[in-house]
Amino acid sequence: MTVNGSYGRQRSADWSTVREELRVRGLRWTPQRRTLIEVLSRADGHVTGAELVERCRRIDPTTIPSTVYRTLNVLEDLGLLRHSHGADGREEFHVQPLASHGHLHCRSCGTTWEVPADEAAVIVEALQRSRGFAVDLSHLSIGGQCAGCADIASG
Ligand SMILES: [Zn+2]
Ligand SMILES: [Zn+2]
Ligand SMILES: [Zn+2]
Repeated sequence: MTVNGSYGRQRSADWSTVREELRVRGLRWTPQRRTLIEVLSRADGHVTGAELVERCRRIDPTTIPSTVYRTLNVLEDLGLLRHSHGADGREEFHVQPLASHGHLHCRSCGTTWEVPADEAAVIVEALQRSRGFAVDLSHLSIGGQCAGCADIASG
């Protein structure tokens, strides 16, 4: 994907057509998938696949993780979700709003911050210019030390 198309734009997932979109992809509308959509439509911010499986299990104890992960991939293909990677590399799914953003992870305190497209533009545009590289902003994750931890470290 290119970042330009989603610059600063917020797109809320439209769950009302998801049933039809899954059918077109050859995926049946099963109770498990309906449960996942229900969970996703109530989620906001970042959730890991494991958390989503857990939330589905609270509604439907027979939830099968592989079905959840497979459906998540399809929903991402459909543009209803986007994933990034947490500090430990595991996938975190973003649901409404789906504004494209990068992440900063502080290695000292473990806090994560979102970097909105306008703030990341300086990095994204520099790489585009120097390398012709189209950055996937949701995969821009930078590790380091936050200002608060740097203060403590410097005494
Ligand atoms: Zn990824
Ligand atoms: Zn910190
Ligand atoms: Zn994020």
